[in-house]
Amino acid sequence: PLAQLADQSLLRSNALINGEWVDGGNARFDVVDPATGQKLVDVANLGAIETRKALEAANAAWPLWRSKTAKERATVMMKWFHLLHQHADDLARIMTAEQGKPLAEAKGEVGYGASFIEWFAEEARRVYGETVPTTDNNKRYLVIKQSMGVCAAITPWNFPIAMITRKVAPALAAGCPVVIKPAEQTPLSALAVAELAQRAGMPPGVLNVVTADGRNSIEVGKELCANDIVRHLSFTGSTEVGRILAAQCAPTIKKLSLELGGNAPFIVFDDADLDSAAEGALASKYRNAGQTCVCANRLYVQDGVYEAFIAKLTEKAKSIKVGNGFEPGVTQGPLIDDAAIAKVEKHVADATAKGGKVLTGGKKIGDRFYEPTVIANATSDMLCAREETFGPVAPVFRFKTEAEAIAAANNTEFGLASYFYSRDVGRIFRVGEALEYGMVGINTGLISTAEVPFGGVKQSGLGREGSHHGIDDYVEIKYLCLGDI
Ligand code: ADP
Repeated sequence: PLAQLADQSLLRSNALINGEWVDGGNARFDVVDPATGQKLVDVANLGAIETRKALEAANAAWPLWRSKTAKERATVMMKWFHLLHQHADDLARIMTAEQGKPLAEAKGEVGYGASFIEWFAEEARRVYGETVPTTDNNKRYLVIKQSMGVCAAITPWNFPIAMITRKVAPALAAGCPVVIKPAEQTPLSALAVAELAQRAGMPPGVLNVVTADGRNSIEVGKELCANDIVRHLSFTGSTEVGRILAAQCAPTIKKLSLELGGNAPFIVFDDADLDSAAEGALASKYRNAGQTCVCANRLYVQDGVYEAFIAKLTEKAKSIKVGNGFEPGVTQGPLIDDAAIAKVEKHVADATAKGGKVLTGGKKIGDRFYEPTVIANATSDMLCAREETFGPVAPVFRFKTEAEAIAAANNTEFGLASYFYSRDVGRIFRVGEALEYGMVGINTGLISTAEVPFGGVKQSGLGREGSHHGIDDYVEIKYLCLGDI
């Protein structure tokens, strides 16, 4: 599939350190097309030594980058933003090849990923300070915000571009250089985006990409956490790895942004518009084959509309076309790897053993594909009630009262996204305020956009990405006390 790229030089297979493409000697690892299992290309497999070099280059580039005016930084970023749009077709092809999502969805992600660059290029000029009313006529109090230093980003494979730009764009806008460690499954999208940053005129060392396979990623991660140069680590991925990274960052007291796992409830009340709820559930549950941290994981449906809702959802799930993301009309691609398939199979087997009824789907197709699945009669003792399935499986639970639904929804250590459907304005406020989540979709299954704060509470993470708050994580607040007036 990659032979068809209009611009072959977007296909980079070496890492980017200090403005140079680094091949890593003999150490390489394979990037595989999840739809076919075939190798696409091999990529530089770097370790701690190269990571240190990247960090030193980033640190050396910091004074120049931070001393540019916000508008100068924004100009480079806007050029980068336009280049992503100009090369959207190629970027989408690269993404579909290594990640599997349908081409149209990949192209949508290129636009979504680019939107963070545009948004934070604009926000760069709005990093305002404060003057504080004095308590002493002889003094004046000022607060300024300054770039914090070198930032590290460790990103996942489910949104190979957007998870990078969402971290890197606010860092760059604030004046911080970055070192990115992309997911081992999807380094090609990261490198293509880095190539475009080079073309946009990003100075050497300001944006670095250290590629590594699964094993070396652990070593690279250790260096990023332990090295004193890094002032801030941003991570999106599993809660399990988030905990490891937080512990590794403790000795050097780094700032942390963590966007971790979710276990999103999707509640349908009796008064909901059922067609709209089924449509929202379809979008929230099956997008990216269920592999997003905001995907509905548990569907709670009120007694009176339970049968009607699952009938509608099942019909919609059956309309999803599963196949290679490059085939026209396909709306669900493969899962990322064998471990992802194994987890889905385990959750479905567990649910059926505990009384769940498969209404559609329930089986693997070929090696890496899984049928869109709806399971009725789900119960709280099932694995899918507690863990994120990260696949196209919708377990549907029945509930009677609003209080019961809220308690069940909040009964998890996670707190990223949640959703509910109701037309009752009182209930909308009550439930919206009662859900212990960072984000609540009300009468919609799609909530993400660059303008709003994305993030979780409880063990779903720390900090917010996107919105005008998104840049806060990348600046230090400094207080200047001016005396002797
Ligand atoms: P997922 O389950 O989505 O693959 P992970 O949390 O395993 O999520 O991976 C997300 C990112 O974290 C990837 O870039 C991966 O290489 C990286 N990663 C995984 N384990 C570690 C680790 N121990 N140290 C540093 N990075 C890691």
